[in-house]
Amino acid sequence: AKARGRDGYCFFSQAISDQLHRHQKVVTLIRQGLERDWFQLYYQPQVDLRSGRIRSCEALLRCFPAEGGAVSPAEFIPVAEKSGLIREIGQWVLQQACQQLAQWQTTPLAGLRVDINVSANQLIKQRFDDQVLEVTRQFGIPLKQLGLELTEHEMMSSQDAEMAQLHRLYNAGGHIAIDDFGSGYSSLVYLRRLPLCTLKIDRLFLQNALGNDADMAILEAIIQVGHRLGLTVLVEGVETAEQDRLVRDLGCDAAQGFYYALPMPADELVAFLATTTGA
Ligand code: C2E
Ligand code: CA
Ligand code: CA
Ligand code: CA
Repeated sequence: AKARGRDGYCFFSQAISDQLHRHQKVVTLIRQGLERDWFQLYYQPQVDLRSGRIRSCEALLRCFPAEGGAVSPAEFIPVAEKSGLIREIGQWVLQQACQQLAQWQTTPLAGLRVDINVSANQLIKQRFDDQVLEVTRQFGIPLKQLGLELTEHEMMSSQDAEMAQLHRLYNAGGHIAIDDFGSGYSSLVYLRRLPLCTLKIDRLFLQNALGNDADMAILEAIIQVGHRLGLTVLVEGVETAEQDRLVRDLGCDAAQGFYYALPMPADELVAFLATTTGA
């Protein structure tokens, strides 16, 4: 029993050491990525279910190291958040999205909204609102064309100073969405506290709803509450025709998922929108 306990200990410490090593590797990768321009924004269309049109897309960050071996944001974003690098990344994303929007102003994509993901850390101890107002002004982008997606579980603990920044952006015409709704310890109360335009329902809800009556009931209820609060309701992660039918039947306003389009580089998005009923 003693020997086993020892093995267990060794295994445990090895696992922690592997984890630390990986964390450090990803930190280095992010630093290099920022210096050497390895980051790129991909864009995933969001479909307006009534008109079939694409009026907005979500900007999703990609990292392509020169030596190959792309890293998923599902891995590097949490590392960036822990290490504080998320602010630099966030600033890069903000600049990049605005630069792209500026380039599109004279094309058929003018008017398309680009939603960027914002980590709650970006709002803490710095003036994110000033940054957004400054960068959009620099590039001549109307604030309403740069959507901001905030994750629900992160905003639950947010302080007045962070809330005030969001209210300022909202009052200036900004478009704010709550992301992954229903994933964490959801509280409908936060829907009232945050200055929101769009409610993005987490894809797990959609996945579970088709096989489970209780999940279906909750999905329906969330959509209803969203509508009662005057929000645009978007469901994430639509992958099949059956799911597409369901979100339409439930009266969702918009949807996003592999069924309609994958996240893609800017030039592919231009081509994609040219062949569909685009923006
Ligand atoms: P998210 O904000 O919830 O983004 C949606 C994720 O779902 C994306 O993963 C997207 O590629 C994926 N997705 C879209 N449609 C489908 C579908 O039909 N089925 C499935 N299974 N997945 C779908 P991705 O690009 O790997 O990003 C993962 C997460 O990383 C994002 O989740 C977001 O939390 C974070 N992230 C990505 N880019 C940024 C960024 O620029 N800033 C920050 N702070 N976070 C980011
Ligand atoms: Ca998002
Ligand atoms: Ca999401
Ligand atoms: Ca997410």
